[in-house]
Order: sequence, then C-alpha cells, then structure tokens
Amino acid sequence: EAKKKNTGSYLFYASEMSDRLHENQQLVVALAEALSSDLFYLEYQPQVALCSGEVIGFEALARWQHPTLGNIPPDRFIALAEQEGLIVTLGDRVLQLACQQGCEWLEQGIEFQRLAVNVSVKQFVESDFASKVLNVLEQSGFPAEKLELEITESVFLGDLTLAKETMQKLTQQGVCFSIDDFGTGFSSLLYLKDLPVLKLKLDQGFIRGITQDNSSLQIVKASLQMGQALNMDVIVEGVETCDEYQMLLAMRCGHAQGYLFGRPMKPDLITAPRLRQISASVGAIVPASVI
Ligand code: C2E
Ligand code: MG
Ligand code: MG
Ligand code: MG
Repeated sequence: EAKKKNTGSYLFYASEMSDRLHENQQLVVALAEALSSDLFYLEYQPQVALCSGEVIGFEALARWQHPTLGNIPPDRFIALAEQEGLIVTLGDRVLQLACQQGCEWLEQGIEFQRLAVNVSVKQFVESDFASKVLNVLEQSGFPAEKLELEITESVFLGDLTLAKETMQKLTQQGVCFSIDDFGTGFSSLLYLKDLPVLKLKLDQGFIRGITQDNSSLQIVKASLQMGQALNMDVIVEGVETCDEYQMLLAMRCGHAQGYLFGRPMKPDLITAPRLRQISASVGAIVPASVI
C-alpha cells in the first residue's frame, strides 16, 4: 500500500517537474521572440518625499504581456533572461525606453528629479556598460543628472575595482546610483565606504513588519541612521498603509515608494494633474504626532 503511494507521488512529482520544464522551455523561446518583436514595455511607479508628498521621481519596471501565456511577472522573466544570456539585450532596451519616456515627460513639462532604471549585475559587469549608458543618454537627449541606476549588492561580490571604475565614469557625467533591495544581499557593508552611492533602497521585506514586530522597526531605524551618517538618501520600498507611512514619517524617513502612493502605471497615466493628486493625497495623511 505504502509502496503504491510512493510510486504514485513520484510519478506525480515527475510529471509536475516535466510540466514545469516544458513551461520554462516555452518561456525561453517566447522570451527570445518577444525581444526580437519588441513586446516588452515599461510601467513607472512614483517615488515621493514623505514630508511634502512631492513626487521626486519614478522607477521604471519592465512588463511582459504574452498573447497566450498572459502577464509574466518580471521576477520570473528577468531571472530567465539572466539564465539564458538575454538580459543584456533586454536591459539595453529597458534603458532606451526609459530615457525616451523621460524626455517626453520633460517636453510635456512634467517635473521630476530622477528616473530610476534597474540594472542586472550581468549588465553592470559588461566591460562596455558605462559607455553604453552614455550613448543611450546622448542619443535620446535625456539628461544624465536625471538618470538613476539601481544596482544590487551582488555587484560588489565581484571585482570591486572594476565596479568602482564603472560607477565613477557614470557619476562624473551626473548619473547616480542606488542600492536596490538594500539589506537582503550577502555583501559586506564596506563597499559603501568607497563607492559613489547616492541612495539606499530599503527592501520592502523590512517595511512589511514595522507596525508589527520590533526587529523590523529597529532595522529600518538603523538603516535610516546609517544613511544619514553616510550622507545617503534612504528610500523605503513597499509602503502600503497609512500606519506604515506615519511610522516612517515619525522616524524622519525621507523618501518612499509603494502602493499607498501609486502603483506602477503606464506612462500616459503620468500627467501633471495626476502627480498633483498624489502629492495632495500624501499631504492629507495626518502625521502620527498630531493624533
Ligand atoms: P524591485 O526593483 O525591487 O522593484 C520593486 C518591486 O516592488 C516592483 O515589483 C513593484 O511593483 C513592487 N512594489 C512597489 N510597491 C509595492 C507595494 O507597496 N507593495 C508590494 N507588495 N509591492 C510593491 P515588480 O514590478 O514585480 O518587479 C519585481 C522585480 O523585478 C524588481 O524588484 C526588479 O528586481 C526586477 N525588475 C523589474 N524590471 C526590471 C528591469 O527592467 N531590469 C531588471 N534588471 N530587473 C527588473
Ligand atoms: Mg528596483
Ligand atoms: Mg527593490
Ligand atoms: Mg526587489
């Protein structure tokens, strides 16, 4: 009886695994096709200054709507693109699209400090990464001082000298760097000492807990203090509730991004009135100290 059961579940897992493999193979083919037919697009999520509600910038997030497989989340297709050696092509396209969009907004009089673009470690370590970015800036006409590149701590597990060189080449032209998902990587904090990093983006995993557990709260507090001590902006990701907002404001957190302020949206939804509406709604949240 037991043996039968085992065989049954083995078969079950095996078929599930082969389904999964098949699905992955399908996706790999679809990914390459989508790249050549330019089916990826970007959504943009606003970032706000907590005390004023001002929209300071946007993060560009890649999207892929497959005709039959549906909406494929970026966590999935980015990982796949990295695995299949397609991330550099995809990343180049993302950067181009974002810079073009940024130019359009500026022409329309939509003001923002920075437009942030995610960069995979595999893109960043390419020897021509810096010159590629500068080329895209030049060709699109997007000002370097408005471009922010989000890199992750994994970048610092490799050749630090090279990483520093790449970052310097770009920061000299006005591009800035932020560390995405800060606090979730495995690298040493020492890199922060010598590298031109302007912002730390605190991972949403820490925010989820701040209204419930003391350890998340303390980690957020300590990160804010460290940012201040090192002269770096800290932006908190994943703010969803007024309670979270109020706690962050009380901790003097500067910047935030999250569903509370705005979901990632198609670029045509980002208009001057919409941005004023976001600022007004942030302003309408009563600070905790007043309650
Ligand atoms: P990320 O760079 O950390 O981006 C933030 C993610 O958090 C986005 O997920 C965003 O939609 C989500 N988010 C923002 N606010 C909230 C909130 O209040 N609550 C919750 N639950 N989630 C929130 P998304 O768009 O699914 O992207 C996932 C990840 O995929 C990104 O994480 C980034 O690592 C990667 N990614 C997306 N676009 C690109 C790209 O163009 N290039 C590269 N290399 N990676 C990308
Ligand atoms: Mg990011
Ligand atoms: Mg992040
Ligand atoms: Mg993330």
